[in-house]
Amino acid sequence: MDLQSFINIRPDSEFPIQNLPYGIFKPRDGATRAGVAIGDLILDLSLLEELGHFRDVTSQQIFSSDSLNVFMALGRPSWKKTRDILQRLLSAETATLRDNAELRARVFHKQSEVTMQLPARIGDYTDFYSSYHHAHNVGTMLRGPENALMPNWKWLPVAYHGRASSIVVSGTQVKRPRGQTKPPDANSPVYGPSKSLDFELETAFFIGPGNSLGHPVSIDKAEDHIFGIVLMNDWSARDIQTWEYQPLGPFLAKNFCTSISPWVVTLEALEPFRKGLPAQDRPPLSYLKHAADFTFDIQLEARLQTAKMTEPQTITRTNFRNLYWSIAQQLAHHTVNGCNLQPGDLLASGTISGPTEESRGCMLELTWRGANPLKLGSGEIRKWLEDGDTVSITGYCQGDGYRIGFGEVNGRIISA
Ligand code: MN
Repeated sequence: MDLQSFINIRPDSEFPIQNLPYGIFKPRDGATRAGVAIGDLILDLSLLEELGHFRDVTSQQIFSSDSLNVFMALGRPSWKKTRDILQRLLSAETATLRDNAELRARVFHKQSEVTMQLPARIGDYTDFYSSYHHAHNVGTMLRGPENALMPNWKWLPVAYHGRASSIVVSGTQVKRPRGQTKPPDANSPVYGPSKSLDFELETAFFIGPGNSLGHPVSIDKAEDHIFGIVLMNDWSARDIQTWEYQPLGPFLAKNFCTSISPWVVTLEALEPFRKGLPAQDRPPLSYLKHAADFTFDIQLEARLQTAKMTEPQTITRTNFRNLYWSIAQQLAHHTVNGCNLQPGDLLASGTISGPTEESRGCMLELTWRGANPLKLGSGEIRKWLEDGDTVSITGYCQGDGYRIGFGEVNGRIISA
């Protein structure tokens, strides 16, 4: 990659000039605002906006805000223009910031000195179930390998509507939920803290421009409505889920907390890592058929650190390409009935499991419902998450001499 910044960026940094993910942050002394990550720094977009750098993009105030919703609503031509402006300003060839120490001191913040917040006001949140291996593993546990997949699974991207109010930014502690469960050998349910708390390794994408009620988005236009992608941990209480989920699906087992990473990586940054979507086992119905459907090569990993461990241990490695349904198919399906999506809505992948035991995306699968507990390097074992455990999920795309990273989403379990 020829593009170089005047900023000193470590070769293994997740935030080179080719990435420029957007986030919302609060400096120690100042209002919450938008920025992009560059190396270990954040470029303050609200200040650049004040100085008139985005006049060609829009006359609206977009970055002196505690959410990216207005920017997300502008659409791809504006996002591309903004990215061009930022890459030019950060380029080693441009003097504007490079040669102005006083301005640099004002527009850059150290990431270590700010508080990251949710990138958007999330109006609605949907969680898909789009990894074949996850659906197959869970189905095998519930119904056996012959009936692992429900008859609809290869015809449509299955999903449920989640809850937006309990989505939190990385670093937020996760309080073990209480609720109703029924032990298998008991005649009636009991109330108390969940005993089988789990994580789910996922990604999620933010909706840019929405669609109006009654007007589906065709699959070939789906990409125009996708702003960017974050990492997600869909914390799940399996014992609550087992007892409550029939017949309407997940409810209190899922809506007590969902964590996302603070930096939204744009589709522009992911472009070099675009891959064709593999042929699907059933030819999709016409509204799900894309002339050139795509996925991205994003390596994903989850780590677990118990209170006794001095460093986290990797417990699974998987890839975004393990998703059977594409994000364009998810979006087209979500709107095919006329459902209106809005800027800042979040559409998640579902647990991303790969074909091997080492690439399973949640404890339910990794321990096969507790039958094969994880043996940790500390000598501890885990069937499920315990209080004091921290789960962190990371992801990146490896380019030639650079890396497009997602940062991290982490959360520590605290007692009920
Ligand atoms: Mn999920």
